Amino acid sequence: MVESDITHDMKDMALGLGADFVGIVGPAIFENPDYAGNKPQDVMPDLKSVVIIGVSVPNGAFDTLPKGRAEYTNTLMAGTATLRIIAFQIAKFIERKGYKATIAPSEGSEFGYWYADRETLKADFSFKYASYYAGLGNFGMNHLLITKDFGARIRMTAILTDAPFAEDERTLLPLVNDACSSCMKCVEICPAGALTKEGTIHREKCAEYMFNVLGGLRCGMCLKVCPLY
Ligand code: SF4
Ligand code: SF4
Repeated sequence: MVESDITHDMKDMALGLGADFVGIVGPAIFENPDYAGNKPQDVMPDLKSVVIIGVSVPNGAFDTLPKGRAEYTNTLMAGTATLRIIAFQIAKFIERKGYKATIAPSEGSEFGYWYADRETLKADFSFKYASYYAGLGNFGMNHLLITKDFGARIRMTAILTDAPFAEDERTLLPLVNDACSSCMKCVEICPAGALTKEGTIHREKCAEYMFNVLGGLRCGMCLKVCPLY
């Protein structure tokens, strides 16, 4: 086990560089029977920790949708760029401590899941699933992570490392946010019909809408209408 002060120092550094939240999980959660995504240990076989780092996104980017789609997309990409810089510094910190670290591609990255696997539109692993088990939030009907402080108005990145950081102590929330059952605003607003009241998502419909109909601009309507932030 990495001494807890190194875990503490790593988190402090991330927050000091501008992150709004940090979470840590081990690789075991990706062996859960309910997990259907790709596994990060297929990328790093001696993986010991997944470090999730997130920033909140300014509310103006959502409030000005749909007219402000270009501003929204640009603001999201600014979040992605910010996270890249933070993650790079954290990866170097981890390596100075004698371990190895690599940064997983996230949405908004030119190597992110929309681009990396056209067939399944799945990332190398689910940041949201990792974040749920790190105690950072739970899922909404919009299939996004709903954090306590910022709702779904966030961007995240993740570091894979063989450093066995101390996992966060957490009490797991219900998988789906309690507020969703009496809301469904995201399902109703989705212009692509990608979300269903049964809780499924048609990723291909969302991708088709953003990349073909909107020409690459992000949509964000399922975030704009979500009251949880
Ligand atoms: S981003 Fe837009 S198209 Fe995609 S699920 Fe949300 S509302 Fe639907
Ligand atoms: S808009 Fe409503 S149903 Fe959708 S994630 Fe937010 S609270 Fe849940």
